[in-house]
Amino acid sequence: MTKPFPNMKTLVNLRTRTFVALILLALICSSLICVSAQQKEKSTQTKQEVKPGAADQQARRRADALLAQMTLEEKLGQLNQLFFFSFQKEESMNAGIRKGEIGSLLFVTDPAIINRFQKIAVTESRLKIPLIFGFDVIHGFHTIFPVPIGMAASWDPKMVEGAQTVAAREARAVGINWTFAPMVDIARDPRWGRIVEGAGEDPYLGAAMSRAQVRGFQGDRIGSPEHLLACVKHFAGYGAAEGGRDYDAANISDAQLWNVYLPPFKAAVDAGVGSVMSAYMDLNDVPATGNRWLLRDVLRKEWKFGGFVVSDANAVSDLQTHGYARDGQDAAVKALTAGVNMEMSFSAAVYLKNLANAVKQKQVSIKDIDDMVRPLLETKIKLGLFENPYVDEAKVESTFDNPEHREAAKTAAERSAVLLKNQNNLLPLNKTAYKKIAVIGPLGDSRQNMLGSWTFAMDINRTSTILAGLKTKLGTGTEVEFAPGVQIDRFSNPSIFDMMLKEKHPPAWTEVQAADEFKKAVDLAKDSDIAVMVLGENQDMSGENASRSTIDLPGRQLELLQAVTAAGKPVVLVLMNGRPLDITWAAQNVPSILEAWYPGSEAGNAVADLLFGDAVPGGKLPFTWVKNAGQSPFYHSHNLTQNPGEQEKRYWNEKAVPLYPFGYGLSYTSFAFSNLKVSQPEIKIGETVEVTVDVKNTGTRAGDEVVQLYIHQQAGGASRPIRELKGFERVALAAGEIKTVRFKLRPNELRYWNAAARDWVQEAETFDVWVGNDSSASLHSTFRVTP
Ligand code: BGC
Repeated sequence: MTKPFPNMKTLVNLRTRTFVALILLALICSSLICVSAQQKEKSTQTKQEVKPGAADQQARRRADALLAQMTLEEKLGQLNQLFFFSFQKEESMNAGIRKGEIGSLLFVTDPAIINRFQKIAVTESRLKIPLIFGFDVIHGFHTIFPVPIGMAASWDPKMVEGAQTVAAREARAVGINWTFAPMVDIARDPRWGRIVEGAGEDPYLGAAMSRAQVRGFQGDRIGSPEHLLACVKHFAGYGAAEGGRDYDAANISDAQLWNVYLPPFKAAVDAGVGSVMSAYMDLNDVPATGNRWLLRDVLRKEWKFGGFVVSDANAVSDLQTHGYARDGQDAAVKALTAGVNMEMSFSAAVYLKNLANAVKQKQVSIKDIDDMVRPLLETKIKLGLFENPYVDEAKVESTFDNPEHREAAKTAAERSAVLLKNQNNLLPLNKTAYKKIAVIGPLGDSRQNMLGSWTFAMDINRTSTILAGLKTKLGTGTEVEFAPGVQIDRFSNPSIFDMMLKEKHPPAWTEVQAADEFKKAVDLAKDSDIAVMVLGENQDMSGENASRSTIDLPGRQLELLQAVTAAGKPVVLVLMNGRPLDITWAAQNVPSILEAWYPGSEAGNAVADLLFGDAVPGGKLPFTWVKNAGQSPFYHSHNLTQNPGEQEKRYWNEKAVPLYPFGYGLSYTSFAFSNLKVSQPEIKIGETVEVTVDVKNTGTRAGDEVVQLYIHQQAGGASRPIRELKGFERVALAAGEIKTVRFKLRPNELRYWNAAARDWVQEAETFDVWVGNDSSASLHSTFRVTP
């Protein structure tokens, strides 16, 4: 459970000065409408009063009773959340907890430490209010699931819900009550490193993944046994960071914000998410963490969110950096009045340090403070922390050892994989056809790199690499040999998270070693019957603080791929990455490409099953796969403008088409779509139309197809995207089997935010409908909406 003590040299080497400063500070001071152009219809979904249930009312009464006893300092303590890293001394926190100055800690993953801290809170603090322990449980805790972009590629919300249920159970077992997930930021620029943490470019798919994750983490209510409080993040617009540069400002039009960036957050709120994290960056020149419009008008008033908002790390104090707040007190006042309940910080604690003064100076009232503290207390009550503050340390291992968790992780990895190319059906491989298989590439046998970012509490020894998975699958009958060929690393610019890696980066090879390793890999390919190349990015090359200006294969990987391909043996490329990469050469020259993402603890076993056909790939791309960074942003639901017939000629130097469209992915079998029917040729505004289609497995083996429905509104009060995803279903079909898939297009799917009307509108217009297996689907119909 304990994390390695960070190497100070590594720390000092970090180029991200702000982060270094923060971590050092932590070490030193750790104690501390429907309107239509024609017709207006109020959205019932967004504007209904939510009646608090009996449990909510009881929590409210208990919270108010507590509030009545609390001093101002104790109230401010509840708003204070601090990091506690394993390299810190417990004593540095104890006094603060005892005095009631800390309401929450994050990053504690050792159940014994959690219990010790909790004991101080519930036995030694005056009002005995328990702490709430938070952690980034993003795609697994002990058992690691595929990274979120991979899970989104499954187009299987049920599976994703199940994965986060397991993650919740494992994290809860050590005493964590709160996860900082799901991350639902729409990302349309592959340079942005955090594209790996979300569901990609599309608001409809993003909303489905958001709901599924909230349900998985929280269960059917806040406080469900073996579940966690979820926290949807980063509210809002973080994915639009300019130039894909992490933390940079986002400038998003009103229409894009409502139609694209906000829907996954709204979906989380509708699914009952208990907390929201405010984002780091400026949204249209107002920092998200001081943005009253976002946090009060939209989130609380419009969406009726009743939980609490936590800032991103140090984001309250950073309001000064933005030039938004004059000093710490101003930052605290601005964030609090904007609607941030809890301040997450390394040690800045500007709420704790400044708000009493702000009350004295009448910048905020006691009522303002009470209103911020109340939802936090209510949440602790609903989570059952007052009754059950401790965790049973004896049960941790048995929870981790549950074989169902490994099984779920393997299924998730299999269902997330996307088959990008399969020339002459090279895949699936025949188990008895090859005497010797070469596994080549820097990611072929690297345990840490199977897992992806935000994996700090897993047991690295229980990670199956691609090499290990193939060896286990093939037994002794087939020789499986490995050569890394090249090394990839961020070398002079390491990730801020590297200090927490379980498996450190190996030292850099000398030039002689590098030449030798490269040759060994090519020789191995020559000497084998087939080469499985495992290329991509190290897990720390995407994620937070991991943006890139290019998306090529890092290091000499392309050169290696070319040399191995030239060896003349069949080559299968397995990709491990969290963003689209420039694989144009591979797409032209390598027969089979399988996108595996960072598949998690069961990576090797899942990939082995996929390569040998014991699992059939059925995932689909959750983003448009651009050829290079110069094409970004590129997304399927763009508007049609001037010279639409010449869309491909938008650049004179290369075709303005992506490498693979959104929603794309192959299978080992084939599918055909027919019988597209729209239930009525005409409906009235406010009515629902049903779309049905038959999908048939036309191949000789079972497989899954993701049936996707796209619409386009032909005219109206704004230019509407060329296509919008409005329905999908992943269906399993035996060879020859046909299924009829039904979709409903309700007013919600047919409306949009109109920037001119500044409201939701549903318009009486004609709509195109396409159904198929990616965003270029050609089976087409239309229907009309009348006033
Ligand atoms: C990230 C958040 C994360 C938090 C706590 C921040 O740097 O932006 O996504 O939840 O750290 O680890």
